[in-house]
Amino acid sequence: MLKVEHVTKKYGDLVAVNDLSFEVKDGEIFGLLGLNGAGKTTTFRMILGLLDDYDGTITIDGKKINYEITDKIGFLTEERSLLTKLTVYEQIVYYGVLKSMTEEDIDKKLDHWLEKFGIKEYKHKKIKELSKGNQQKIQFISAIINEPKLLILDEPFSGLDPINVELFKEVILDLKKKGTSIIFSSHRMEHVELFCEKLVVLVKGKSVINGYLSDIKKEYKKKNIIVSGDIDENIVNKQKGVNDIKKVNKEYIISIEDDSYINSLFKCISKFENIVKFSVEDPSLNEIFISIVGDSYDK
Ligand code: ATP
Repeated sequence: MLKVEHVTKKYGDLVAVNDLSFEVKDGEIFGLLGLNGAGKTTTFRMILGLLDDYDGTITIDGKKINYEITDKIGFLTEERSLLTKLTVYEQIVYYGVLKSMTEEDIDKKLDHWLEKFGIKEYKHKKIKELSKGNQQKIQFISAIINEPKLLILDEPFSGLDPINVELFKEVILDLKKKGTSIIFSSHRMEHVELFCEKLVVLVKGKSVINGYLSDIKKEYKKKNIIVSGDIDENIVNKQKGVNDIKKVNKEYIISIEDDSYINSLFKCISKFENIVKFSVEDPSLNEIFISIVGDSYDK
């Protein structure tokens, strides 16, 4: 289990991470989110033991970060960092040896992953000869070749086609099932929503949302009413508690302040003709993110 407790990191006068606490249990996928410059990379670098002059504590299974522990961490960086003149085999051996693995062990595990990702034939090809998506697979294999206990994935799906996104998702969920703790960072909220049961959102280094996604959605009072039928938008828009109304394809999405306005809105809508749908939905993580992060950013 990873535990980050009251961590603060300054670069000169700039507080890049401000009193941050969270934990990621074995077999849990945790979202670390925030706009550009929010402090995510700084947090990753502290977990990886690349920065040590910070306040607070970071432990994995109760132990402070040291070389023995970082051997059991895998990191897929947002900036791709492959040595493109090397062959796939040479590259993975390079990473594996850095993580204290033997060449024999690396070779065995590499064969398994190349087979899984459907790219066995590229084992001895130079990385620069591979397509962007296949290079991404190699980058991913380099992050998991050491069977990490903690895996950090920063924008893992960038540049992937939809079939490969599905393949990556399957592998990530398999690793979770085997007990790997995973930190997932992405600007694509629909991916975060799909994977993460718990998350932190950073604004200028400070966490503004922290906890289980289901609780975050419950606490966020606004709801969406989805209506299909012939309504008069002007009349609906003037109802108490209505924040906004949008037409998407053939449905209206009506955002209301909280669920106390559902009944009165239902009465209003039911007066129109041809209403075939009236459903109440929780807002998406994207809406919550934009609303909370937008508000905090201005302060
Ligand atoms: P992005 O999504 O753009 O990658 P991020 O959330 O990873 O952003 P960080 O890279 O952690 O953000 O940066 C947090 C803050 O710390 C920013 O204001 C950044 O300019 C600053 N910062 C990062 N690294 C350094 C450094 N080595 N020296 C000084 N300031 C830094």
